[in-house]
Amino acid sequence: MTAMAKVILTDIEGTTSSISFVRDVLFPYAAQHLPMFVRANAHEPAVAEQLRAAAQEAGVAGDDCEAIIAALQRWIAEDRKITPLKALQGMLWEHGYRNGDYRAHVYADAFDQLQQWHAAGVSLYVYSSGSIQAQKLFFGYSEFGDMTPLFRDYFDTTSGAKQEADSYRRIAAAIGCAPVDILFLSDIRGELDAARAAGLQTCWLVRPADTTATEADLAASPHAVARDFHGVTLR
Ligand SMILES: [Mg+2]
Repeated sequence: MTAMAKVILTDIEGTTSSISFVRDVLFPYAAQHLPMFVRANAHEPAVAEQLRAAAQEAGVAGDDCEAIIAALQRWIAEDRKITPLKALQGMLWEHGYRNGDYRAHVYADAFDQLQQWHAAGVSLYVYSSGSIQAQKLFFGYSEFGDMTPLFRDYFDTTSGAKQEADSYRRIAAAIGCAPVDILFLSDIRGELDAARAAGLQTCWLVRPADTTATEADLAASPHAVARDFHGVTLR
């Protein structure tokens, strides 16, 4: 696809990067290391604050470390999005990145094209459901090294849900440009629909390893389609 745009707003999972990295590397890492991390760091103020919140949520005593760990592990198994669990997972992932236990996956075509756009003066932004801190760690410790200098800024769900048009209006206002000057890249049809409703240009990234969309789905959609970042051309 070819677009006239001054600004690129990109999703991460399924777009710049494989969905499997988060599913198969980050979440298992947090689940595996959580008990040891909690026991070793329970007295750190930032950890203690989350453990108190977790204890309250679970209805167990605030000083019962093992009961809190059991609750956290149950929430992980049930895939619950409990705030203190998410906060502790974020701390564990930061530890893993800084410790070199893994590096964030980025497709080579995405790295290459983002670099070229950046060099050409295109403003690059990220919008992901992961927290802004998690996004910065992700690109700070990627397979291609520190990619954070490529991005002007990051947006997460504090700007609103990814399938709501108002989120994209807020982001355009925060960037300070007309929605039509922004090209949004995502692998999820509902996100593209919301962005389009807000007046952004859209491109559906359809990577074979990450998508469940069929050719019929693509043909029935109003969005431009690209198989990877090399398929996206800016004029
Ligand atoms: Mg995605």
